[in-house]
Amino acid sequence: MKKRKQSIVLEDLPITQYAAEGKALAKLDGKVIFISGGVPGDVADVLITKSKKDWAEGRVLRIKQYSPDRETPFCEHFGVCGGCKWQMLPYAKQLEYKQQEVEQNLTRIGKVTIPEIMPIIGAANSREYRNKLEFTFSNKRYMLPEEMEAETPFGGDALGFHVPRIFDKVIDIHHCHLMHDVNNRIRNTVRAFAHERQFSFYDIKAHTGWLRNIIIRYCSTGELMVNICLNHDEEHDRVALFDHLLKQVPEISTLLYTINPKWNDSIYDLQPQVYYGKGYAMETLGEFQFKISPKSFFQTNTQQAEKLYSVARDFAELTGTETVYDLYCGTGSIGIFVSKQARKVVGVELIAEAIDDARENAALNNIQHAEFFAGDVIKICDDAFFATHGRPDVVITDPPRAGMHEKLVIKLLEMAAPKIVYVSCNTATQARDLGLLAEKYTIEKVQPVDMFPHTHHIECVVLLKLK
Ligand code: SAH
Repeated sequence: MKKRKQSIVLEDLPITQYAAEGKALAKLDGKVIFISGGVPGDVADVLITKSKKDWAEGRVLRIKQYSPDRETPFCEHFGVCGGCKWQMLPYAKQLEYKQQEVEQNLTRIGKVTIPEIMPIIGAANSREYRNKLEFTFSNKRYMLPEEMEAETPFGGDALGFHVPRIFDKVIDIHHCHLMHDVNNRIRNTVRAFAHERQFSFYDIKAHTGWLRNIIIRYCSTGELMVNICLNHDEEHDRVALFDHLLKQVPEISTLLYTINPKWNDSIYDLQPQVYYGKGYAMETLGEFQFKISPKSFFQTNTQQAEKLYSVARDFAELTGTETVYDLYCGTGSIGIFVSKQARKVVGVELIAEAIDDARENAALNNIQHAEFFAGDVIKICDDAFFATHGRPDVVITDPPRAGMHEKLVIKLLEMAAPKIVYVSCNTATQARDLGLLAEKYTIEKVQPVDMFPHTHHIECVVLLKLK
């Protein structure tokens, strides 16, 4: 017979500190407990999900006493939706915890000597800050527990966000605060028309149903691009839906559709078709223009991206004579942003389409001294590459969450550029890499930037100088 593990619930546990990645912390009998669902100041009943000798993990079952820090979440979907999870904390408190997490990661994981960390640059707009949102159609609406208990529970269709950890259920979103209110009008108009005409919503398990996704891109220029993904084409219904949408939301500047007959939602191997408008949107960052195609990557918080890039540019202390490498360059936006102050920019990025965009964006801004290369940084950045393009005066590196590959760190140590500007979206892996770079570099400046209010994500720019 299988032995059932007895669940342990710690009652009335005072949660005293912030830990990291959205978790808070309590201490009991010399043991540290990492808790999800609670904030410092709460007293809660906590279900232990993992227990080791010195530490344990758990989640809040019931809050017995609410932290005085808590405030009322502004979103009706809070608690179910996976976005904006930190709404119960005032924005200033979120920033304080992010600042603390940077400090802890850099000192504890990196074990490096750091200067005083500059105060995190918060966002002027902690709502409606995203320029891109994607909503999913599903024939399996997520129902709240109280709805399930109703006499005749009714799921039905939904258009909104996936429920965290339940892959086939979607929350029917009425109002999303992550983007300008136009996102709500688009989504709610499409949903209402689809219901009226009885269009079918996608069934992820059976791979049936017509409507699959809506991707909305709203740029600071006011340009609004909408891409609707369909399982197959139904021309008559499509035209009816699109004409209705364009009439109801005349701000739409480009409307596209993408036929996706695949089992997954990715559109990267598909060709979006233009129904209305020029087929792309223009965005600006500082004095630069960027063309965003339906498949292009672009930083999702334009206002904060501008601040982040300005920090990177300031840290690089460019005078116009430098050769700057922009590693993990995506669509080349950092390289382009610093280009006016550099003699030459060399960008490297894995995704070939992003490099196509980078070249197009450089041309669009009349930048002739930037070159972009597609491929894996650890393959591209060899001795011959540096010999051809010149010894770097400044390396700007902006790796994904996993941080830099160790081989690249070794190469950077070998190249010994006078300055490295390390832009990171994960201070834990950044700390690890800084620990290695400390062999030849000192950490001069650390500037966290908040790109994603109400989430626990942190961006952090670090300036390293050769010893
Ligand atoms: N600097 C860009 C994008 C940073 S996101 C911006 O600010 O917009 C990190 C980028 O690293 C992604 O575009 C990803 O495709 C790229 N990437 C991931 N692994 C890579 C690798 N091994 N070599 C080169 N680029 C890589």
